[in-house]
Formats: sequence, structure tokens, C-alpha cells
Amino acid sequence: MTTSDCSPPSAPSPSQPTYHTSLLTAVDSRNHIHLILGANSLAATRTAQSLAAGAKPLLIAPPPPQDSPLHYSLQKHIDAGSLAWLPRSFADEDILTLGREEIGHVVDAVFVTCTADAGFSRRVSALCKRHRVPVNVVDSPALCTFTLLSTHVDGPLQIGVTTNGRGCKLASRIRREVAAALPPGLGDACARLGDVRRRIQDEDRLARHGGAGEKPVEADGGDLADEGVDDSLDQTATFNKLVTDADLDAAKTRRMRWLSQVCEYWPLKRLAAVSDADVDAILQSYHNTTDAQASSSPLHSDGRASPSPKLGRIILAGSGPGHPDLLTRATHKAILAADVILADKLVPAGVLDLIPRRTTVHIARKFPGNADRAQEELLSQALGAVREGKTVLRLKQGDPFVYGRGGEEVEFFRQEGLGERVVVLPGVTSALSAPLFAGVPVTQRDVADQVLVCTGTGKKGVAPAPPEWVESRTVVFLMALHRIGGLVGELTRRLVEGAGEKEEGRRLWPLDTPCAVVERASCPDQRVIRTTLRYVEEAIEQEGSRPPGLLVVGRACEALYTPEKGRSWVVEDGFRGLDLDDFVAPGIAAME
Ligand code: SAH
Repeated sequence: MTTSDCSPPSAPSPSQPTYHTSLLTAVDSRNHIHLILGANSLAATRTAQSLAAGAKPLLIAPPPPQDSPLHYSLQKHIDAGSLAWLPRSFADEDILTLGREEIGHVVDAVFVTCTADAGFSRRVSALCKRHRVPVNVVDSPALCTFTLLSTHVDGPLQIGVTTNGRGCKLASRIRREVAAALPPGLGDACARLGDVRRRIQDEDRLARHGGAGEKPVEADGGDLADEGVDDSLDQTATFNKLVTDADLDAAKTRRMRWLSQVCEYWPLKRLAAVSDADVDAILQSYHNTTDAQASSSPLHSDGRASPSPKLGRIILAGSGPGHPDLLTRATHKAILAADVILADKLVPAGVLDLIPRRTTVHIARKFPGNADRAQEELLSQALGAVREGKTVLRLKQGDPFVYGRGGEEVEFFRQEGLGERVVVLPGVTSALSAPLFAGVPVTQRDVADQVLVCTGTGKKGVAPAPPEWVESRTVVFLMALHRIGGLVGELTRRLVEGAGEKEEGRRLWPLDTPCAVVERASCPDQRVIRTTLRYVEEAIEQEGSRPPGLLVVGRACEALYTPEKGRSWVVEDGFRGLDLDDFVAPGIAAME
């Protein structure tokens, strides 16, 4: 669990860590000149790393004695012409004369690979620092201006790990474990999805300007629209913003947003298996929106169609908030028994992983502005499969009857004469479990004696009537974070004048009411922002959003948590897990 906060720290508290962290960057080193000083095996490793990044390594090392040849790998690169060698000792002016012409002949980086002569290392380091040339000296962190990460490389995907000098063996072990946890083929998937993004941008640019050469069109969220974009905010606050018909660019925006959401919500395994056909389907999905088959996302299928005259059945089940251990046994059994699973977008990856390979799975292409259409598509798929005699599992996130349209689906199947064939299974709702995982008891004696679950977004995007302030009330707002500013305004200020008596009598929420934003509750990347109504909008704007998330408002937010004076908000990142072997109450432990 890591915490951060927005306000400048007053004085370091004894519990605060004292270690430093580095600015991790990815340097485009193509054609850079890297000086490699020394001719040992580390020099060979650095040469290989430099070449892998597209740089031009230049070895400076005196010729070896007759009886001990140059390191074989260095010699191989020299013979192949990929490594230049100056067979002499290093001279100070080398760093200012051997580099690329366009940057005044200064070299791009220097690697000192031998430790034998500490005086030499210190001299090179000081020289480089003075001329702002990045320098790396083996085993001498104090002499380095940069260190290399332990990296996993898979196509265009690179994952780097550093412990900031705490041990390269440990970093390498962590890197191996991280890499092992990834599905194979993720690098190819990055390349493919990058390609989709570029094609969407190109098509949109052509559609807009009818020509090439213009600046790329900035798509919603920006997170997929620009190369080199900084993703440190996870998602922009507008990531889940409603797309309205009034938005002239809605179609293009939708397509880019759909791609963003594919990247965000599809299980990694599924993303890693993305095929050319999927890419075409994503690109086509808004050219032909009536084709239900193309518009959902088949995960895997046994390819067999076995129509049967006997009616099948429909199980409508909730998958819980995120962690697969929060599935009920009934839903787990249904997952194992179903022939076809029609899952909502938010159904967690850990749950989708439990689906047997033979089962056909479709994930709804649901996002703001497209929910109705996606819902119709899924329901018509469900009907078809039930009439073929199949067991269809409609898997919903959380609980199916809590803002899950579960009731509407039951009605739909009844109207189709299939009421008898429907079973509904409950799920752990995020509305109550997310506050728990954030250490917020939604009711507690003398603090909160009622809890209200609301939506922040009404039908067709109209804001629902705001609940009035009751001091002992906890309110949980689902689907609210994308319009947090509007919601806070409605809770704390009068609506437009003349809105009626009821509005005039409505009690408003004090701005210092504690609240918490709980995102991706029970997922490994759970995040909690603790603040008050006064700062919550600013906090989300600055921290970005990490959907899905909800807002809990009321004194209960401070029942088990004491805010630190002078801090507008505090961010807690990470989920303690449900591992009962070293079980400490999740959420609560996080705050200690
Ligand atoms: N049926 C679901 C709710 C569906 S509405 C349930 O019972 O949980 C979708 C909203 O639920 C999201 O906009 C978000 O507000 C909330 N939500 C779902 N999963 C969440 C999670 N893991 N953490 C925080 N909020 C979540």
C-alpha cells in the first residue's frame, strides 16, 4: 500500500520513508553515440544494450596484450561492423568530440565498465557531470547520473524495474515475476493495438480535412490519441464522460473511446490474443453498428453450433466488485456450467479467467452513449442461444439488481415468454463492498444510521434529484465520478431559482462533509482518495480517474479514519487482498 497526498509535507513524520525514487524515462536512443570505456564482459553487455536501443556504441580501450584477445562478443560486433573501436586510452576531450555532429559532437552517454581504477572512474564521472553528459559507472551509484533498469522486452513492450540501488538481483527477480505473470503475446498485441489507434487517427484526419499532413485529431481522453503521452494519471477525468448526440465528433470520439476502453477493460489475456480479425472488427464496429455479431467481442468459442428444439435457460448473475474470491459459489457454478456467457464490460478480469476455454464469451460494448445499443445486442444474443437450448449466463458486475438493469432483463425475458427459464443470482455489490474495502463502515452507531445508494447519472444523462443532507446518513453515489463537479454543486448549493418549494426546503450538504472516492475496489490497483466535498472535484481532476469508481459521502468516512490537518486530500493506492493466510481486515489495515 502506498500513499501520497497533494499538499506539501510540513515536516517528515517518523513513519515516512526516507528513500529516494528516480524519474523513470524511456530515451529514444536511435543513432546516439554511446562511449563504452573498458573491454570486459560488462562492456560487451553494454554494447548489446546500446545496439538493441538503436544507438551506435563506440568502444575506447587500448589493444589487449598479445596473449589475451579482446572479449569475444566485442570482437564479434567489431567484425560485424556494429561496434566501432578506438584502440587507445580514453582522453578527456573524447566526450566532446566523438558525438553526433547535430549536437556539437558531444557524446550521448558514457558507460564506464571497469572498477579497477577508482580515480579514473571519478575523473570520467566528474567530467561528464560537468558537461551534462549522462554517465553510468559500474557498481558506483554515486558516480552515475543514470542507471539501467532490469528490463523485460517483448516487441515494442518494455517493462523496467529498479530498486534504486537496493539490489540488482532483487530487481531482476521482480522483473522475472512480473514478466511471468503476463500472458504471452502481449508485445504483439501492443503493436497491433497501436496500429489500430494510428489507423483510427489517420481515418479521422482524412475524414475531417480530406488530406494528409495535418496535426493528429485529439480524441477524447487524449490517452490514446497521442504518441508519447504521459499516462501517469491512469485515465483523464473525462475518460467516462457521456457522449451526447449533440457532440458533432461523437462518432469518431466513440470509436477512439471504444478502443481506450478495450485497452482498459478487456482481460490482458484477451488483449494479448488480439488478432487481425479483431482489429478489423474494432475498426469496422462503427461503420456497421447494426451487426450484433461484429459489435460484441467473442473471447473464445468451440466453434460448434448445436441447435436444439428444447429451450435452454438464462442465469442472471452478479460477479462481485472485482476480486474473484468475492464471487458466490452459485455464480461460480453457473460460470462452469454455462454454454454461452454474455458479460458486461465491467466484469472483472479475474472472474473472466475462471471461464472454461470451451465456453463462448461475449463482452458488451457498453460505454456512456452506447449502453442501450449494447444492451439490445446482448439480449438478442441471449434469446438466440436460449432458443437453441443453451444455458446462457448473463454475467453482470456487482449485484445484478443494483444499477445493473437486471430487473429490465427479467422483464424482457418474460415478455419473450421465457420468464420460467430465468434464474437470478445475487452478487456482492460495489455499493456496499467498495466503502468497506476503503475502511468506511457505511453504518455505525452514533455516526451513521442510514445508508443511501444513488446514481450520479440519470437516464439520458439528466442529473437525478440530489439527496438531501441528513447528518447521520451515508450516501454512496455510483456512476458519478465523471460529473463530480455537477454533483457536488447539486449537493451543496441550491438549484436554479424557482425550482419549487421542495427544492427551497432541501437541506444542503456542508462543504466540509467527509467523502471518499473508491476506485477499482478489491482489484490490485484499488485506489482511495479521502477528502471532503470541498476538494473532491479538484482531487479527481489532479489525480485522474481510474474507473470504475464511486463516491461515499458522510461522517462514516471519518469513523475509522482521522484526517491529517492541513491536507486537502490523501490518496491510498493498492489493495491488501483477501488472502486469509495473513488476513488483516482489508481497507482498515491500509489506514494504520
Ligand atoms: N451492479 C453493480 C453496479 C453497476 S453500476 C454493483 O452492484 O456493483 C456501475 C458503477 O458501479 C460504476 O460506475 C461504479 O460507480 C460502481 N462500481 C462498480 N465496480 C466498482 C468497483 N470495483 N469499485 C468502485 N466502484 C465500482
